[in-house]
Amino acid sequence: MPTDHRRLPKLPPLLERKIYKTGQTRGADDDEIYQNRVASTSTVLIPYTVWDRFVLLSENNINFEKGFIVLVSPTEYFSNNRISEELNDRGLFLGKNTLVFYETREQWNANNPDTLRWNPAQSRVYPFGGQYVARISATTSIANGGKIIRGFNTTSNKGAGIRVYEYASSDTIRKCRFQLEAIIWLCSDSEVVARNNGMINSDIVMRKNSIFDICESMGLLDMEKFVYVRILNKSGKTICPFCLDELSAQGFFNRMEQAEGRDVLDLTVTQLNLFHIQELRMGIFNHAPYNLGWGHHHCNTVVKDSGIRETLLWIASVLKRNIDAGYDLNIG
Ligand SMILES: [Zn+2]
Repeated sequence: MPTDHRRLPKLPPLLERKIYKTGQTRGADDDEIYQNRVASTSTVLIPYTVWDRFVLLSENNINFEKGFIVLVSPTEYFSNNRISEELNDRGLFLGKNTLVFYETREQWNANNPDTLRWNPAQSRVYPFGGQYVARISATTSIANGGKIIRGFNTTSNKGAGIRVYEYASSDTIRKCRFQLEAIIWLCSDSEVVARNNGMINSDIVMRKNSIFDICESMGLLDMEKFVYVRILNKSGKTICPFCLDELSAQGFFNRMEQAEGRDVLDLTVTQLNLFHIQELRMGIFNHAPYNLGWGHHHCNTVVKDSGIRETLLWIASVLKRNIDAGYDLNIG
């Protein structure tokens, strides 16, 4: 059985990139403390408010490859006389693995870190070189309303880390990549599309079979499970987890601008993106095998962070109201 996938025939570059990107975090604004498009193994940021619940969920097995930083709000930090003891009881120490995170001008004015002689943190590992980080947006309604960006803002150290729920171990990222490629090959037209995008027949067969073998050996090719989580339909074909339409592999090669115009042929094909079956939520690691599939960009946007079930229930209520109100929708 082939285990060294580096020796496999190459995928078309666009597809290769699409699969590679699945191990990176979502995009974030430059003014946020969250790192943009970096590996999901980066330093993890955990809000202090979820720490206890988080420790409980992780069963004391907090083992992030690149460490973690706990963020306390100034409101919580300065209104609690016993905050240092409470933090220390949990193994948390300001400047060591914990920082105060200023997000509003009120917090900044009420307890200005300069008057406390605090320094903004710069390093993602101990020692941080400071006690706080600040990301306060500009406002025009008051004097001195410029934005305040302190800590983790140098080019080499932009962003403090990633959101805790975006974290995944290298091993999980690797498994997800294998499985996501297998799901692409399970699109009914995957071979034709691969051929149209530059792969030769023998390479297609070899790559496809090897990926299936690797997935099988790692327990990543359970067809019943795929159907249960809406990644495949009962015929074993890849579907969009939300609208359940069968996916054409051509969707992986369409960029947004193509879907919007220029090429008439592409108008019928929708762009495909990574799709979280259980949405990303605080305290739960959802970058995991059988929780990631491929779906329409449009469906992804509709489901967003609400989840598939909640979105379907909402749509049902919208339809019912429309029908009850007498609008003719011409459905079934
Ligand atoms: Zn869809």
